Amino acid sequence: MRFFIIGFGQAGGKILDLFLGREKEAGSTIKIKPLAVNTARTDLMGLKYVPKECRLLIGQSDPRVKGHGVGTDNRLGAKVAQEEIDTILNAIDKMGTHDIDAFLIIAGLGGGTGSGGAPVLAKHLSEMYPEPVYAVGVLPAPEEGKLYSLNAARSMISLLKYVDNLILVDNGAWKFEGMSLRESFAKINEEIVKRLALLARAGEPVESETIGEMVIDSSEVINTLRGGGISSIGYATTLVEEKKKGFSLFRKKKEEEEFVENDKATKIASLVRRAALGRLTVPCNIRSAERALVLVAGPPEHLDRKGLEKAKLWLEEQIAGVEVRAGDYPTRRTKHVAALVVLANVTDVPRVKQLQRMAAEAKEEIESVEKERIEKTLEIFDEDIEPLI
Ligand code: GDP
Repeated sequence: MRFFIIGFGQAGGKILDLFLGREKEAGSTIKIKPLAVNTARTDLMGLKYVPKECRLLIGQSDPRVKGHGVGTDNRLGAKVAQEEIDTILNAIDKMGTHDIDAFLIIAGLGGGTGSGGAPVLAKHLSEMYPEPVYAVGVLPAPEEGKLYSLNAARSMISLLKYVDNLILVDNGAWKFEGMSLRESFAKINEEIVKRLALLARAGEPVESETIGEMVIDSSEVINTLRGGGISSIGYATTLVEEKKKGFSLFRKKKEEEEFVENDKATKIASLVRRAALGRLTVPCNIRSAERALVLVAGPPEHLDRKGLEKAKLWLEEQIAGVEVRAGDYPTRRTKHVAALVVLANVTDVPRVKQLQRMAAEAKEEIESVEKERIEKTLEIFDEDIEPLI
């Protein structure tokens, strides 16, 4: 799955940067096209792995921005993105899009630049390119306040109009115990990157001398994520025991071999179950998912077709729909087996409902403060003066 990833704003840029860093460390051959877009120069300068020519500063000509960001004003973020959409699209075009499978925009939805810019970019990309456009939207934690919720709700509503799928990550649900939200960011970003890295491996050529049990194509990811809803991702890993080197003097009995095979299948199936029932990127009711995708990666001797099929059957019973796709990716670069479960088009997401409520309250509060201010200002004037209209 070849992604053109656009990290929009600070959170988006940092997640993209970490993705590239982890791929580099792993000596990965996965192809990714990266672009970091921001209105704040310092955020772009802080990136380590996004090549300099793949960083784009927008809003320099706007006197309110001038390279210093848009604060938490996502309307200004959207305006700047709209004004400079040609510059952004040209940068994407110049990097080449002929060999990509999909666009992936990553942004924090509670802030200004990414929250405002991501929907504008999604709109134009979906109009210009045949490839699907996905977004990873990071939701603010409730403790960040109502303004962030209002921003996120506005951004989410706009994104859902234009993206083929919106993968949500809830900062509130992922805040680590004993840590502040800011301190948790690095760990949350690691979790996001692990999941995206596995998704990016679907349908990609495997390392030489390894064969997958059940290969999955990028078109299957696209089919799972079609339709324009919200998705949540589950993930679980397990450390595998290394096989002892050398040959056994005795051939294993047939029953013994069967026992090992069944054990492998059970392990894969229970790992997938753990991924689906554990902490999801955004907590949701798994029974409300329309479709699902399972991807398992790890050393080839630990992958198992029967296990995947078992997991697939189990998931089919759990979700609302019946479309479950499953595949694996053999790799010798790890001692872990990892399972990814994408729950596509989930409709029962409590945090989204809560966000809508908080956003409505914030809107009301802002409007009543504005009304009060206008009334107070008008009180200064003599009542005899008639307004013009
Ligand atoms: P922008 O630069 O104006 O787009 O604003 P940010 O990207 O900083 O967006 C602010 C929102 O993103 C807030 O809700 C933050 O909680 C969240 N956020 C900021 N940085 C990070 C990060 O590194 N990781 C995660 N997970 N969330 C972040």
